[in-house]
Amino acid sequence: MLNQNKEKAEMEKLKREVVVLNKERRRLAKKLSALRLIISEINSNPDLDRVLDLIIQKAIQIVDAERGSLMLFDSQSEELYIKSSVGLSKRTISGVRIKPGEGIAGWVFKEGKPLLIKEGAKDLRFKKFEEIEVELKSIINVPLKIKNQAIGVINAYNKREGNVFNTDDLQLLSAFANQAAIAIQNAQLHQEIKSLSITDGLTDLYNFRYLQERLEEETKRAQRFRRPLALIMADIDHFKEFNDTYGHPEGNKVLKVLANILKANVREIDIVGRYGGEEFIIILPEADREEAQKIAERIRIKVEEYNFKNEEDHLNNPNRKITTSLGVTSCFQGSISPQNLIYKVDQALYQAKRKGRNRMEVI
Ligand code: GH3
Ligand code: MG
Ligand code: MG
Repeated sequence: MLNQNKEKAEMEKLKREVVVLNKERRRLAKKLSALRLIISEINSNPDLDRVLDLIIQKAIQIVDAERGSLMLFDSQSEELYIKSSVGLSKRTISGVRIKPGEGIAGWVFKEGKPLLIKEGAKDLRFKKFEEIEVELKSIINVPLKIKNQAIGVINAYNKREGNVFNTDDLQLLSAFANQAAIAIQNAQLHQEIKSLSITDGLTDLYNFRYLQERLEEETKRAQRFRRPLALIMADIDHFKEFNDTYGHPEGNKVLKVLANILKANVREIDIVGRYGGEEFIIILPEADREEAQKIAERIRIKVEEYNFKNEEDHLNNPNRKITTSLGVTSCFQGSISPQNLIYKVDQALYQAKRKGRNRMEVI
């Protein structure tokens, strides 16, 4: 009898435990399915910056955190910096730089392991420079890893309503971080492919196709809003001769340097591209003829002044110079097609060549 009662009590206890476990399982399943939804939302977004913002927003949602930051590793400075965040001040965002191994985030990055700290400020690993201007009660830090290589860290600070993060939160955020890292890699690849498809491999300037697209857009915009638009075309003088004298690889170096001179002497909004072999185009939105002329003349002088000599033949050939001819054209309030603009700027360039080169002509 006694045994029977005992067994019954055991059974009841087990039943209650099963109910609790089922409840727990359902709760976790619900959280995981929410996680899947979040991940698919992040993955459907091809823009890298947007993906990073979404990741930190969702991360703090998942664990019910007050604030959070997503840090990425900059391989040049070999430091972690805050790429996106929620609830942090501008000063913190721009000021925090952490070496691998330093502080909590640096430790998590270096070890590649997640960390749950229930008494934030008391942890010795927590360095002064990591402070986020609020009292830290609990913290979760999880590494962002791609194929075992850490690329950054997600930090979640203080659970809402005075609660403290638990191991559930840690597991959930770790699972999320694994998926988030893949999403980051996808978005990075997407960005790289996009940028490769619009840039010229030698000079890193925009390529012909992109120039055409942009010119189409900019002429439409200029007409719709009745804004000025100008165009510059530049061509190296006697470049065939330069190639014949110094060789094609040296000619390529000139093209690269020239690309930098062009970029350094235009405005932020101008679009500089390589139109053909040694021909360049600059699209200047919002620029009138005078402004475009000024920029073209500045470029002409900078190129003329530049010494393209190289280290090796410096002694035999201390001056290695090239010059450019430039055509300028503009439109304002008239109806104009991209083809027409290109035709006019080409004519202006042709005139500059005919009139003796190393000069600028406007049509
Ligand atoms: P002009 O003053 O009339 O422009 O004379 P030019 O010799 O520059 O003109 P031309 O059109 O006869 O020759 C252009 C030369 O540009 C031909 C080629 O040797 C050189 N060129 C074109 N593309 C490249 C390139 O990618 N790399 C190098 N190194 N040279 C190039
Ligand atoms: Mg030429
Ligand atoms: Mg040419």
